[in-house]
Amino acid sequence: MHDLIIIGAGTAGLSAAVYGARAGKRVLLLEENVYGGQIISATEVENYPGIRRISGYEFAENLYRQAVELGAELKYEKAVSIQEEGGKKTVVTNRSSYACEAVILATGAKKRRLGLEREEELTGAGVSYCAVCDGAFYRGKDTAVAGGGNTALEDALFLSGYCRKLYLIHRRDQFRGEERLVRALREKDNVTMVMESQIIRLNGKDRLESITVKNRCTGGTGELAVTGLFIAVGQEPDNRAFSEVVRLDRDGYIEAGENCRTDKGGIFAAGDCRTKEVRQLATAAADGAVAALAASAYLK
Ligand code: NAP
Repeated sequence: MHDLIIIGAGTAGLSAAVYGARAGKRVLLLEENVYGGQIISATEVENYPGIRRISGYEFAENLYRQAVELGAELKYEKAVSIQEEGGKKTVVTNRSSYACEAVILATGAKKRRLGLEREEELTGAGVSYCAVCDGAFYRGKDTAVAGGGNTALEDALFLSGYCRKLYLIHRRDQFRGEERLVRALREKDNVTMVMESQIIRLNGKDRLESITVKNRCTGGTGELAVTGLFIAVGQEPDNRAFSEVVRLDRDGYIEAGENCRTDKGGIFAAGDCRTKEVRQLATAAADGAVAALAASAYLK
């Protein structure tokens, strides 16, 4: 029997584990993949208050160690449902089931797909969602990044250091990401910005050889010979397993305000998986603290 089960060991989940363990609760973290969540693939974090510069990997590693040293337990299992009976909760996983008093959902969000034909088939064969993980394979090659947010801009900057030529393809004429990143990219000789354009086709036999791009204003299409395509078009949540237990909004995020309370007593939501305006490392960590303290108060 655990006091608190946290589903997801990204920044929000691990922060909740730190706060839960420090409040003296028996904390179990359930993680389907690796701990650390999305930040693990960030080359550098420069906007976490109090830390001037750190790699995403080191940040995640520190947070994991902190949670475990304080007494939280981590199991690599996928939570598939939450059952309730008489106020007690049972989290069912792909391997087992665990009883607890309170649950924090910190399931994060997953990389959004472009939804193109052959996108899944070519993933790992030219198509990637992680520039930091796969960028080195494209040294001296021509590649493209799709997206206009901070992730796409940072990926493009990172890849411009490896690739011969890099196309940054964005569907609008304005970037969503920060101006300082846009300025830094404009200074790169090997970066071409392809604005108001959308990728409509992935071409190649067994690996990606080129992409077909359509200009959204003129309707004209053209082919770019690239062997790598890094897709960075945002994220989407995956809370379907819990849709019977807590209310989701129409985009699939768990409905919970800044107090991280869901519509179900004893179930809290923290980080990118919940409805919120700002999804940042600092807000994920803040949510973890808020949710764990709310859960601790509920357990009393
Ligand atoms: P994002 O900010 O949601 O940006 C997604 C981008 O992809 C947008 O430019 C969007 O275009 C485009 N897009 C979405 N769906 C598309 C589709 N089907 N086809 C083509 N383009 C599509 O996502 P993100 O860049 O992953 O960032 C997520 C959050 O993390 C943001 O809050 C961001 O600020 C934060 N972040 C911060 C840092 C940092 O501070 N260092 C680094 C990375 C991420 P539109 O603009 O037209 O909607």
